[in-house]
Amino acid sequence: MTYDDDNIFAKILRGEIPATRVYEDEDVLAFMDIMPRAPGHMLVIPKAAARNLLDAPPEALAACVAVAQKLARAAKAALGADGITLQQFSEAAGGQEVFHLHFHVIPRFAGVALGRPGVMGDMEEIAANAEKIRAALESGAGA
Ligand code: 5GP
Repeated sequence: MTYDDDNIFAKILRGEIPATRVYEDEDVLAFMDIMPRAPGHMLVIPKAAARNLLDAPPEALAACVAVAQKLARAAKAALGADGITLQQFSEAAGGQEVFHLHFHVIPRFAGVALGRPGVMGDMEEIAANAEKIRAALESGAGA
């Protein structure tokens, strides 16, 4: 399987389509999922071209997981989450729909099941959650 640079996340990386960004460094970008399965659902992607877990360089995986940890801590502090679900799907048979490597960081609340996939979120609520998570990162909650 090859990497197709027309995928949606490659377009977000190139700034061709908008995204609600929460974190960026030299190697990694993180932004809000537009169909959140829980409040504060984020996606962490490497800037390097990689389709999924099967072809990604180990350094890209390590960089993404380190950022996922920061975001998990920040989201827990910012949103009062009780836990975090970290998901990664590889290839269609594994549940992958967008073919640029990504990790889902999903804040979880005690007793609340994950929402259904594929349901568009409320953009104002997504932006408000992003703002809280960014503020928590700035105040050091991700460390
Ligand atoms: P997966 O490939 O792991 O199954 O899921 C892809 C994820 O990307 C889904 O959770 C979906 O809601 C999200 N998604 C799909 N298109 C867009 C988009 O244009 N912008 C953002 N921010 N998220 C997207």
